Amino acid sequence: MPDPNGFLKHERRLPARRPVPVRISDWREVYPSADDGLIREQATRCMDCGIPFCHHGCPLGNRIPDWNDLVRTGNWAAAIEALHATNNFPEFTGRLCPAPCEAACVLGIGNRAPVTIKQVEVEIINRAFDRDLVAPRPAAAASGKRVAVVGSGPAGLAAAQQLARVGHAVTVYERDDAIGGLLRYGIPDFKLEKKHIDRRLAQLVAEGVEFRTGVTVGVDVTAAQLRAEYDAVLLACGALAGRDTPTTPGRTLRGIHQAMEHLVAANRAVASAAGDRPGGSGRDSGTPAVDAAGKHVVIIGGGDTAADCLGVAHRQGALDVHQLDIYPRPPRERDETRDPWPTWPWILREYPAHEEGGERVFAVAVQEFVDDGTGQVRAVKIAEVTVEKRDGQRLVTVIPGTERELPADLVLLAIGFEGTEDQPLLEQFGITRNRRGVVDIDPDWQAGPGVFVAGDMHRGASLIVWAIAEGRAAAAAIHRYLGGVEELPAPVTPSAQPLAVPAVR
Ligand SMILES: Cc1cc2nc3c(=O)[nH]c(=O)nc-3n(C[C@H](O)[C@H](O)[C@H](O)COP(=O)(O)OP(=O)(O)OC[C@H]3O[C@@H](n4cnc5c(N)ncnc54)[C@H](O)[C@@H]3O)c2cc1C
Ligand code: SF4
Repeated sequence: MPDPNGFLKHERRLPARRPVPVRISDWREVYPSADDGLIREQATRCMDCGIPFCHHGCPLGNRIPDWNDLVRTGNWAAAIEALHATNNFPEFTGRLCPAPCEAACVLGIGNRAPVTIKQVEVEIINRAFDRDLVAPRPAAAASGKRVAVVGSGPAGLAAAQQLARVGHAVTVYERDDAIGGLLRYGIPDFKLEKKHIDRRLAQLVAEGVEFRTGVTVGVDVTAAQLRAEYDAVLLACGALAGRDTPTTPGRTLRGIHQAMEHLVAANRAVASAAGDRPGGSGRDSGTPAVDAAGKHVVIIGGGDTAADCLGVAHRQGALDVHQLDIYPRPPRERDETRDPWPTWPWILREYPAHEEGGERVFAVAVQEFVDDGTGQVRAVKIAEVTVEKRDGQRLVTVIPGTERELPADLVLLAIGFEGTEDQPLLEQFGITRNRRGVVDIDPDWQAGPGVFVAGDMHRGASLIVWAIAEGRAAAAAIHRYLGGVEELPAPVTPSAQPLAVPAVR
């Protein structure tokens, strides 16, 4: 029985982050592990609500009050069982999720302090790995069916694990040289050290999942070959088509890059320096192709990707960094009339990267990239703007007389994604992209007979927690399609929506 007064006895507290000067001198994670006392105290704040609204915030349907109570009583082994029952990879969500569950927690009503659900989650899985409680769970018997998964992000990996555990022979194809999707080369190490991916992959391999890296489906292997070789195919290729700003004067100058060019190059350099990736000592030199060292950096965009570029730029030794957002500065607290609890609120999101320096500039739009006379960008001309929605369209109005220049040797475009990439695989499978650039599917997760789609490729640029939920649900549909008798958990339907869409990019 949980302590009904726990939240009255204890304030919400998170473990201290590593000091800024220390952490920007390396690439290690920002949070050190917390001691048992703090986490058990924080779990005690959970009231085990009759209607746990935290469940509604989480697409995985994580059994949050159950594991909070198990942590409160120090039963870490049972806590990881409860957590793994709904989430294949709590080490990813516990580190990276923006935690819509916390926005929906009853203790957050009236802008109060929700339970530190995400921190409890990551501490459970940390201890589980430390205590050897994460053992492989291979299937009791083989089904004789073969499934190909294309794309090794969280959606593909969650589906692969679910399917392997019920006896299907699963092969994951990944065009990159390492497994993980955006977790591997998109998200920087200071948010997710790559050892966490490798540790989980070892479990999947022991459960029978086969990985083939460096294989682009549609180029190195055709759709026809996969159809012939496998009983079902899951496409989980992400939504990696970066939005650009081609009509802004000066866009073709040197020094202007998509955010992903910066992040992927930085992640590869870190992996290379650590010597822990294939190609680490060869192809990658340790110096990233897009480097902020000694530069004036301007990042365009206000979301997760922009914050990741900010953290990377500081670690690379940028001279100064401006981060531009077209929207006005959000309020610090939920506006109950606009985003009533338990929906996801529009508030100022301050990531650890924002503590590390740089200046955020709100309500501005880029007017021009300024040439230094040699074809290299030297400044970004911005103007203050107002933004309104009219007939569903965004209307941006420049405020006259507000133009100014920010020095810039490196400009990073972090202005979102336009859906899944146009690539040969789509045509080969007879799939078209819809108006949003993603793939429509039927209620059984199929884009065509035996061809299933999950994750960002179907949902559009979203969150890891949604990718895992979709991977699990698509695996359940594939299992049914292959004649499986037992039901696998399907936490979401293809048309499921968040309480409100978190704006992470
Ligand atoms: C910079 C950045 C930071 C982010 N930070 C967060 C965060 O902090 N928290 C959060 O919840 N979410 C975050 N996200 C979003 C999150 O990473 C994605 O929603 C999630 O990774 C989607 O998973 P997925 O499996 O659908 O696709 P992805 O992770 O994109 O993986 C798709 C994989 O498919 C592979 N692929 C594509 N085509 C082929 C082909 N033809 N053959 C073989 N392989 C192919 C790609 O190489 C890629 O590895 C972030 C996104 C970005 C870009
Ligand atoms: S809503 Fe908050 S207090 Fe209630 S059960 Fe969920 S985590 Fe606990």
